[in-house]
Amino acid sequence: MSTSAKRVGELLETYAAMSDPDSGPGVTRLSYTPLERDAHDFFRDRLESLGLTVTVDPVGNTIAELPGSDPSLPAIGTGSHLDSVPNAGAFDGIVGVVGAMVAAETLAAGERLRHPVRFVVFTAEEGARWGQACSGSRMCAGQLDRGRLDTLTDKDGITLAEAMRDLDLDPDRVGEAAWRPEDWAAFVELHIEQGASLDALGVQIGLVDVISGSSRLQITLTGRASHTGGTPMHLRADAAAGAAEIVLTAEALANSAPHRGTRMTASRLDVFPNSITTIPGVVTLQVDVRDVDDLRQREAADELVDRAVAIAEARGLGIEVGVLGDVSPTLLPIPIRDVTAAAAAEAGASYRVMPSGASHDSQVINSVCPAGMIFVPSLNHGVSHAPEELSRYEDIALGVDVLIGSIRRLDAAI
Ligand SMILES: [Zn+2]
Repeated sequence: MSTSAKRVGELLETYAAMSDPDSGPGVTRLSYTPLERDAHDFFRDRLESLGLTVTVDPVGNTIAELPGSDPSLPAIGTGSHLDSVPNAGAFDGIVGVVGAMVAAETLAAGERLRHPVRFVVFTAEEGARWGQACSGSRMCAGQLDRGRLDTLTDKDGITLAEAMRDLDLDPDRVGEAAWRPEDWAAFVELHIEQGASLDALGVQIGLVDVISGSSRLQITLTGRASHTGGTPMHLRADAAAGAAEIVLTAEALANSAPHRGTRMTASRLDVFPNSITTIPGVVTLQVDVRDVDDLRQREAADELVDRAVAIAEARGLGIEVGVLGDVSPTLLPIPIRDVTAAAAAEAGASYRVMPSGASHDSQVINSVCPAGMIFVPSLNHGVSHAPEELSRYEDIALGVDVLIGSIRRLDAAI
């Protein structure tokens, strides 16, 4: 194994060990937990030991700066996130942070660039805890105001603001986390593909042209909880049966011809009282609708809501629909992709331009400065957000080479 692949592996394994021991298989390091802070601290310590200045903003994003030779120039940024979904793999987000660390080591030891380079770990990228993805980068982009931090709530009823305060962060200073566009020249994020196409095609690098948008719905069905033996079938209002019909409707809708390209998933169901001898009285479903086409994404979400209302009506169920999050697809700018393509060619890597089905911090940061993404292959059929998530250290090391080459080329070009 090459030296840089070994270095990548060593860092990935260090992060993988920072996992909640009581959460079952895989890595569990939810956002705004002491474990996520431990991971940020490890990053901070390493980059400080390279002589970089590291700051943690009031809401928990960590930013390390390598000064450039011309202090008047805006920064080139790279980085990703260290939080995970429950029972995750060891690569999603972490690869981009490890890439940033190895890039920092390489660039700090090499010839000084003109631009400052900032190595960033965003907090709370995963939507698993708060329903909304990319919370940390949204605060950097000034897209999450103080009031919203009191309304985003986890499954235990803890608000995002409370979780921040518990970690000595300060939600009242969220405004200070916002980046000024004039301070940033470009941002490039290294990430795993989270799909199987690079591996299937034997291509080493993916360069992202468009990142899917996501509309996230919460549908609450209210029926009548009652005895499963005493209540005849024709006198029931079973919220779970209604929810099951909505799950299958979502699948059928995304598979239908007008929605080719839409991915719709009823990925979370909470059943009350969730007891074998009680007819389910209330079911809350969360549905994630993704698409690279803005209009089709919203139409699919609207159509699912219409059908869910009809299903509830036909079954005598109450229904309430809320929107947990709504993000448009993002087109990433061509000039940054051209730079990453030149860096890939220089590194001798095969590459293809491709969309991203998953959301990423770069999607949000692209509203502050032009952003690009470099994907490395995911193995195991592209499985992600599961313990089986896997990428080769050698492939990641090649991705890091492309990242470093991209930063150098951006430094020369802009
Ligand atoms: Zn990620």
